[in-house]
Amino acid sequence: MKLSFVIPVYNEEENIPELYKRLKQALANDFRDFEYEIIFIDDGSQDCSIEVLEGLHNQDSNVKAIEFSRNFGHHIAITAGLDSAEGDFVVMMDGDLQDQPEEILKLYNKLREGYDVVYAERANNKSGLINRASSLLFNWLIRKLIDEPIVINGTIFRIMTRQAVESVKLLRERNRYIVGIIGWVGFRHASQKVEHDKRLAGKTKYNLSKRLSLALSAIFSFSSYPLRLIVKTGLFFVFMSFLVGAFIVYKKLFYGVPVLGWSSLISAVLIMGGIQIIILGVIGEYVGRNYIETKNRPLYIVKKYLHK
Ligand code: UDP
Ligand code: MG
Repeated sequence: MKLSFVIPVYNEEENIPELYKRLKQALANDFRDFEYEIIFIDDGSQDCSIEVLEGLHNQDSNVKAIEFSRNFGHHIAITAGLDSAEGDFVVMMDGDLQDQPEEILKLYNKLREGYDVVYAERANNKSGLINRASSLLFNWLIRKLIDEPIVINGTIFRIMTRQAVESVKLLRERNRYIVGIIGWVGFRHASQKVEHDKRLAGKTKYNLSKRLSLALSAIFSFSSYPLRLIVKTGLFFVFMSFLVGAFIVYKKLFYGVPVLGWSSLISAVLIMGGIQIIILGVIGEYVGRNYIETKNRPLYIVKKYLHK
């Protein structure tokens, strides 16, 4: 039996050695009879992450690394890891020790109860308040909006069987929300409560705008609800215009005065203009994403593999 670990890193030079140490310890304690490989994906780091990885790789052939030619993003880095993982079971985790190596056994044990994907549910989420609130909101929203009956859970930390990984590898879309993709392929999913920790060193690599763009990617690639919302908005305004029309006729018939006013006119024009621009923007999002997909570029470019 072989375990693969897929760990994307972006400027995590301070965290990698400690993560490696704790992972080795966890493997020695909990997975003594397993072969394993630890695949780090260096997502275009500007610090010394790749040198640290080279050092580890030279002393331990179980450590492998994929160096990207630039920053391609967290979810694409994970994809590269899945592409090259060879294990019977694949564990995905972040490189900042928020996902703790000591908890992997719990995920594995749950998987052996007969599941294909077991994702971590954070028992004591240590993320900041804003992060927690925004991910709660996002998870609620995506569950509401999603078109297909798939399991979506926000955490990356999870273990998968080879069959699930092979299926995930078939989906090559560029608007990549990996958690949604893993949900989309189906199979049996389960959650497992695990302890969560604070980031060991460094700062989060996800600022608000990156978070927002991931959320939009998820929504636009897994839901056509925004398009249906446009139709609903249009219907609503048609309905409103009937009401207003009826009101004007009523005023004219019974009081002899049609509604006057520059203000009411201009506000109606501005509201309608604004709504039309928003609608165009929503359609533009789908068109733009469609354009990116049709270009069919490779998902990532590798500068160097440190394998063997
Ligand atoms: N990461 C990455 N590419 C990026 C951003 C982040 O590979 O463009 C990695 C990062 O090094 C970390 C993981 O993705 O291992 C999660 O990022 P982070 O901890 O900053 O996110 P947070 O936990 O704050 O949501
Ligand atoms: Mg983190």
